[in-house]
Amino acid sequence: MSPPLLQVNDLKKHFPVKTGLFGRKSEFVYAVDGVSFEIARGETLSLVGESGCGKSTVGRAILRLFDITAGQVILDGQRIDDAHPSTMRQMRRRVQVVFQDPFSSLNPRMRVRDILAEPIRNFGLAKSAEDLEVRVTSLMDTVRLPREALNRRPHEFSGGQRQRIGIARALAAEPELIVCDEAVSALDVSVKAQIVNLLQDLQREFGLALLFISHDLAIVEHMTHRVAVMYLGKIVEVAPRREIFAAPRHPYTRALLSAVPLPEPGAQRNPIILKGDVPSPINPPRGCRFHTRCPLVFDRCRIEEPVLRAAGPEQLVACHLEEAAPATSG
Ligand code: SF4
Repeated sequence: MSPPLLQVNDLKKHFPVKTGLFGRKSEFVYAVDGVSFEIARGETLSLVGESGCGKSTVGRAILRLFDITAGQVILDGQRIDDAHPSTMRQMRRRVQVVFQDPFSSLNPRMRVRDILAEPIRNFGLAKSAEDLEVRVTSLMDTVRLPREALNRRPHEFSGGQRQRIGIARALAAEPELIVCDEAVSALDVSVKAQIVNLLQDLQREFGLALLFISHDLAIVEHMTHRVAVMYLGKIVEVAPRREIFAAPRHPYTRALLSAVPLPEPGAQRNPIILKGDVPSPINPPRGCRFHTRCPLVFDRCRIEEPVLRAAGPEQLVACHLEEAAPATSG
């Protein structure tokens, strides 16, 4: 088996909160608190969970938009969490991002031509002015936008078209991994499907790996290879798409999936309504972080934190109940 493209080992990001006299930092938001996973070349891993669970922080840590508190982020065998700036430059080319709101991530004063040319120039990818022009125009073809639109500015496009520009800008750097941070969440349903189809086509064409960060499990179900479920800064379950949607093992995954509509008209899942709110990441519960809302909680859950353990050939679950349950054969 070839080594993974991306490895995230025990990643932690704790943000200091200014409290107390003279704004001293005496508390921390435990946004990501020990997260590990891998992504293979050409694979889509979806990171899902409710708003505030830490999934976007994981994405931003991989992009090294800030320094991490602890852990390792390894791209193709090389650590990027503490990489030297000269190494980091190449790493940045290899990992690109598509954000939720293309309008705020695209410079409104720049024409599309310049938006797409910028990463090509920055990373020295074009051999000549002609090569630059060829690359820019072919990016428009790749994301299925008309070449005539190269001279327009972002406000002249619809939301879906702007997201295509955001994808083209990411592709301009010839990346191996794209972090899609809620990349389709702000779009209408039909446009969402078009952008997801485009991402899948590009993945096949360029062998891209995708980290697809989303709270929308209905979209994830149609486009991912594997799913990692996050709750309050931790991964609670990881499994291939088929296993997780057919037989979720963690009580939180079951509750999340119970809210996903079934494709058959009129068909319904039995909704699992969780009591209470997600606890504060400043003061997460002791033991299992989900114990304050779990319908299956028992005494041990309030004291001891469950670890991710194998529940099937490719399925990992962090729940004490799994110790008693037989692992599935897949
Ligand atoms: Fe629920 Fe306990 Fe499992 Fe946590 S460890 S998910 S509280 S049963």
